Amino acid sequence: MSSTYAIRGNLIFTKTPEKFTVLEHGYLICEDRTILGAFPELPDRYRGMEVTDYGERLIIPGLSDLHLHAPQYGFRGMGHYIPRDGWTTWFDLYAFPEESRYADLDYARRAYTRLADDLLTTTTTRFAMFATLHRPATELLMELLSERGFAGYVGKLNMDRNSLPGYQETTEETIRETILWLNNCQGHFGDIKPIVTPRYTPTSTDTSMEALGKIVEEYRVPVMSHLSEGLNEIEWVKELKPGLSCYGEAYDMYGMFGSVTPTIMAHCVYPNEAELALMSRRNVTVAHCAQCNLSLGNIAPIRTYLEHGIRVGLGTDVAGGDTLELLRHLPFVTDASYARWNLTERQDPMEEPKGLDLPAAFYLASKGGGSFFPQKAGSFEEGFCFDAVVLDDQRLSDEWHSYNPIERLERLTRMGDDREIHAKYINGKKVL
Ligand code: FE
Repeated sequence: MSSTYAIRGNLIFTKTPEKFTVLEHGYLICEDRTILGAFPELPDRYRGMEVTDYGERLIIPGLSDLHLHAPQYGFRGMGHYIPRDGWTTWFDLYAFPEESRYADLDYARRAYTRLADDLLTTTTTRFAMFATLHRPATELLMELLSERGFAGYVGKLNMDRNSLPGYQETTEETIRETILWLNNCQGHFGDIKPIVTPRYTPTSTDTSMEALGKIVEEYRVPVMSHLSEGLNEIEWVKELKPGLSCYGEAYDMYGMFGSVTPTIMAHCVYPNEAELALMSRRNVTVAHCAQCNLSLGNIAPIRTYLEHGIRVGLGTDVAGGDTLELLRHLPFVTDASYARWNLTERQDPMEEPKGLDLPAAFYLASKGGGSFFPQKAGSFEEGFCFDAVVLDDQRLSDEWHSYNPIERLERLTRMGDDREIHAKYINGKKVL
């Protein structure tokens, strides 16, 4: 395939959160890695160009999963009903023991190969993915993802307190291994880049946070972590870092809250006014993980973030969330948003409901999350990365009904799976 070509099908994308743009049997034109434009007809100047015609199939921009844990993929779909005496149980029973196994590079190769292969048959083209403490396994994950043509960030974890024995670094190790890893990444792993990843405040000492902040400044790498996911976690952070106006300050004081490089914070369920104000001033993107939050009885105030002009993308949070398919998380985003309004804001029984609709949720999954990456991603507008996913929903349709592309996309968000992923392009390259 030459570097300039077109694909044709029912194009659906969101320039804004308010509505879908649909081009039935439209043309999407690629030059090198970039979109030249989406057109209802092939413009004269492109006559004779190579066109792959996907017929009645839907074509959407590749989605960005801004929060998932690669080493937790093995226990996805489990652990939601253990006794609710705190996060410790889930960490002790599932997350930490499983993550510990990635010290073994053979195990890591088997497990990460499965993850990377399965991720190919999803709508995700870009991501920000947590790995484990282990530098060799993290580099292997980056290699496997790069070989499959993905783009995005992978983070070697930092944890030098409050983990399990055997799955924790010393402060000296966490700093040394992070520097070594960043050096090893230079010139390697294609479009897979490193991102500095302290797991969250309770698992990083002040000394390691200070050192990581300096590393971020020196290497100019972005940052990701967790923020204000649960009330008990916020209380714990208050004990560990007394006197702060909000949890976010525990990152901000070390230059790891969007003041130096762009930062992703996962969850952000319980911001106080100080945290909202700080996030408005910083380059922080919220990774909204609606399914995971709901399974713990929480709903993040996403409309509030958007009203404050704070950037929001979506995360599957595998394995706090069950499926890698980000499209399947959109109903959680929309339904949770209306539930939050109904339960916390509604004043009057006759009031018009307020919440995120499907175009808004799709926007967050595509252009919202895509805005975290240095190149524009997540839309079919000119100048965006050529990331596209072709969806074949024949399995879900019948010849005696005819639905429009938006209705078909809605059904895919509630009923679709890997069987509907027909083809996939990342940075102009066909990867599936
Ligand atoms: Fe997480």
